[in-house]
Amino acid sequence: MSGSPEANARELIQLRQTIETIERQNSATSGKNLALVAALKEAREQIAKDKEAMDRLALPPSAFGTVLEFREDDVVDIQTGGRKLRVAVSPSVDPAELIPGREVILNEALHVIEVLDFERLGEVVIVKEVLADGKRVLVTGHADEDTVVSLAGLLIGCKPRVGDSLLIDSRTKQALEVIPKTEVNDLELEELPDIDYADIGGLAPQIEAIRDAVELPYLYPELFSEYKLRPPKGVLLYGPPGCGKTLIAKAVASGLGRRMAAEGNAASASAFFINVKGPELLNKYVGETERRIRLIFARAREKASAGNIVVIFFDEMESLFRTRGSGVSSDVETTIVPQLLAEMDGVEDLKNVLVIGASNREDMIDPAILRPGRLDVKIKVERPDAEGAEDIFTKYLTADLPLRKTDLAENNNDPAATVAAIIRTTVQHMYAETAENRFLEVTYANGDKDIQYFKDFSSGAMIQNIVDRAKKMAIKDFLELKLKPKGLSLDHLEQAVRDEFKENEDLPNTTNPDDWARISGKKGERIVYIRTLVPNKKKEEQGGKEIPPTVNVPTGQYL
Ligand code: ADP
Repeated sequence: MSGSPEANARELIQLRQTIETIERQNSATSGKNLALVAALKEAREQIAKDKEAMDRLALPPSAFGTVLEFREDDVVDIQTGGRKLRVAVSPSVDPAELIPGREVILNEALHVIEVLDFERLGEVVIVKEVLADGKRVLVTGHADEDTVVSLAGLLIGCKPRVGDSLLIDSRTKQALEVIPKTEVNDLELEELPDIDYADIGGLAPQIEAIRDAVELPYLYPELFSEYKLRPPKGVLLYGPPGCGKTLIAKAVASGLGRRMAAEGNAASASAFFINVKGPELLNKYVGETERRIRLIFARAREKASAGNIVVIFFDEMESLFRTRGSGVSSDVETTIVPQLLAEMDGVEDLKNVLVIGASNREDMIDPAILRPGRLDVKIKVERPDAEGAEDIFTKYLTADLPLRKTDLAENNNDPAATVAAIIRTTVQHMYAETAENRFLEVTYANGDKDIQYFKDFSSGAMIQNIVDRAKKMAIKDFLELKLKPKGLSLDHLEQAVRDEFKENEDLPNTTNPDDWARISGKKGERIVYIRTLVPNKKKEEQGGKEIPPTVNVPTGQYL
């Protein structure tokens, strides 16, 4: 540096300024550099992504397949595109995952490279039979055709039941899982009836008839075959409602179960009772009722093949199996009768299935069902007469119940004699043809009139109801009027009979002649007029008020 100090200082300042400018420029350049580096990086990544996408697009398509059977460590049978192939498994795949029914992905060389889940969509079918090997089932599809499918997917190691709904893969013929359907639960009507013949009152001849017809051939099949006698396949119990038809059918089932176990025919034999309520089974969808009938028999066969006794009880049979072509049944119903016939004919090879039908309009049942080899034993279950009624009372009114002291005193304090006396008097009152027991006046087409009394509508169910009413009265008396001596008395029974007479809903409040015939069990004559002679509490009608039939009974229709 030379010159004056001032000149030197100026030069120094200039130099400093120059340095600052250069530094500023420098830092701006390095900032730009950084941005450039970042942009370059981004561009490189984008290029890599695009290349990947390009590569993927250029790849050959991966095929899907379904595992049929795993053979060895690295070989599996699969189905793909309708072809069955035996292919290799990539080492990256866990062989334990190769369960029949699971989907797999195959590479270009058709090697399994990935295992997926089970197919969850498909057709639903119903199990008709589980085949002996336990690995296959016979199923019925919606078009009614039978197919055999193998158990796969979630069904491996399970034993589906007849009637279960299964999801199947129809291409691979594999059943994959059980689909819960409420209808299957409907059939869980099976129960072990605990009814003894001794619980039934007043039907000794009917019980004897059914025991002769049913028990002997089941207990001594070899004797029957020796004598070339065919055991009956079915029994029809007919008569008015509430008189013990269901009770008898249940007693038959449990009686057979007990006797078979006792005879050592089958040590672990149980009795099953499938209670089929006619109107409930009737379904408006074409073919649905038939399908359910098939299901019922399949379930029965399943149970019977394990050595059990199965009674299939069809209640209100006429609602399902009406005479074909009678004009009463619709076209839809006309295939129901053949379905039952086919099933009953198929019971041939199964000794342990018995069909019991119950009806109060047996005249409406298709005659084909009542022919020999089907429901060929017919037993009429009538309304109880006075003697029968007494017997039914003894089932519900027993000497071990609390009895009122005054009633006991009249019978030497003997409870059995007291109960017998109460029953005798109650039935006498109930069955008397007195003015107060007059119930209905029926006018027939020929002008004849018929008076129906209370006893003409008596039933086991009604008697049970009367006893229950009397018992409730006795309890109420005790709780509300503590002064009264405790216990049942004749007064309670008599009051219960009067109340039942007035309030019983089963009695023909109906003016529909068809219902009337159903309730009364009387048919054959044409009724033109029904007149009620009893004041009905519920409807507040006065005694003697005339009720014309709601539907005019068409001429020529016999009830
Ligand atoms: P149905 O099948 O003839 O319509 P049920 O057998 O169902 O009649 O009878 C209904 C109820 O009435 C039975 O559960 C039982 O309590 C009672 N009952 C009917 N008849 C008798 C009878 N003969 N002995 C004892 N109880 C009976």
